[in-house]
Amino acid sequence: MKAKIIAAEEGVWNNYHTHTFRCHHATGDVDEFAQRAAQLGMTKLGMSDHAHVQGEGDHPQHMHERDIPGYLQACRAADRKYADVRVLCGVECDYDPSDEAFFRDYYLEELGMDYLIGSVHELRNGTDRMDCFSDAHFGAQQLRIYTDLYVKLIESRIFTFCAHPDLFGRAITIAEDPNGWDANAQSAAREILDAAQANGTVLEMNVSGVWKTRTRGYPEVIYPKQEFWEMASDYDIPVILNTDAHSLERLNAFTDYGFDMIRRYKFRRVELE
Ligand SMILES: [Zn+2]
Ligand SMILES: [Zn+2]
Repeated sequence: MKAKIIAAEEGVWNNYHTHTFRCHHATGDVDEFAQRAAQLGMTKLGMSDHAHVQGEGDHPQHMHERDIPGYLQACRAADRKYADVRVLCGVECDYDPSDEAFFRDYYLEELGMDYLIGSVHELRNGTDRMDCFSDAHFGAQQLRIYTDLYVKLIESRIFTFCAHPDLFGRAITIAEDPNGWDANAQSAAREILDAAQANGTVLEMNVSGVWKTRTRGYPEVIYPKQEFWEMASDYDIPVILNTDAHSLERLNAFTDYGFDMIRRYKFRRVELE
């Protein structure tokens, strides 16, 4: 059954962005995450491992095609096993306009998964690729590509929510961009927020950037990017708060940071059911 967006109750928080060992850069499996979720008093757990894309072969950061049935089974088995935790099965998709039909038809229709998360992890310009997690400088040209891709992702409307829209703030912070959060960054944020509001999109506040900041010693939080969310507070865009857990200990890490920001800017928080 396709997941629905509902208002989040005060004091209730569940995570809908969780990876497993199958993506080759996370640890833990669904059963352990569900057990931990139950211990933490969570009532729902959304699994969202990195989606395999048709024709890409064995991608080093995605689930491999042959592992997908096992992933789905692990989610459904955990859902049956833990009576107090409803386990939803989704995937996080690296967005490319040419893969839209595949994501929708394969994961939602054929496999009956519950939801899709849309993400931009890589800038694509013809055959050129730039990883958004590299420490390279994000100049005007990179921002343009990122923004165009993210706006298309929003406009596709196939994703239940759109992940870490402010990921471009990471490069600005880490590469010590001499211009910092400049007019280009502002207009990137403005275009993404305009598109999100126009399309009724749920944006994700992703606190894994806080975990990365604290463990790697960055001078300030790379994301959630303060300047982006301050601008977002002028809009009426629902927000989902997730940890983007890549290990058991990250399942509920640094949610306080997100809750502080949500309170400060009075965001309307949503979750799934
Ligand atoms: Zn992501
Ligand atoms: Zn993720």
